[in-house]
Amino acid sequence: MPDEFKIDNSKLEKLAKKFKTKDSFSLSSASCKKLFNLYSEVITERIRRQHLAHIIRSLESYLQEKTGNSLFTIKCYAVDLPFGDNTQGHYRKGRCFDIYYNKSLSEDEVRICLSHELGHLFLEAYSYMQKGKKLYEDAASMEPLSSLFGIFTIASKNDFYQNEANSCINGETFNGLVDKFLSLGRQNAK
Ligand SMILES: [Zn+2]
Repeated sequence: MPDEFKIDNSKLEKLAKKFKTKDSFSLSSASCKKLFNLYSEVITERIRRQHLAHIIRSLESYLQEKTGNSLFTIKCYAVDLPFGDNTQGHYRKGRCFDIYYNKSLSEDEVRICLSHELGHLFLEAYSYMQKGKKLYEDAASMEPLSSLFGIFTIASKNDFYQNEANSCINGETFNGLVDKFLSLGRQNAK
């Protein structure tokens, strides 16, 4: 069922009833709708703009660990880039990596460009940490290697959605999910 987990008014009405208990909790369907609207406005909209969030988060935590700077960040900004450039990456060693991408790019182009820039960051940071030790036998250059890194990134994301994403859901239904939260509430009340 493609809409099993899509939240609509009838699900919100049911949630209000299910979470309304005799004792301390009170939940009206108006409150359910209000929170859902807030969630859509604040979170859903933001998630839509978080391209490649998992790889960015992973690379960020790797660099936090390796640089010893727990505040190391990777941030992406949609801007108007001059000269028809698609992306620009600015690496401030040990501090942060900012990627500026042209806001006219399509979602797909953004992912391609960002993953290529992340490749540059990874290669530069990694080879710096090797303290000059040669990484590759040949004189492999950074441009194609960055694209290769991008391909690994997008291919593993696609592989996840093609093969693993469904098995994560593993026969779960919306009601089953709600029940898990209801039993959590019962445990907490103990
Ligand atoms: Zn490049």
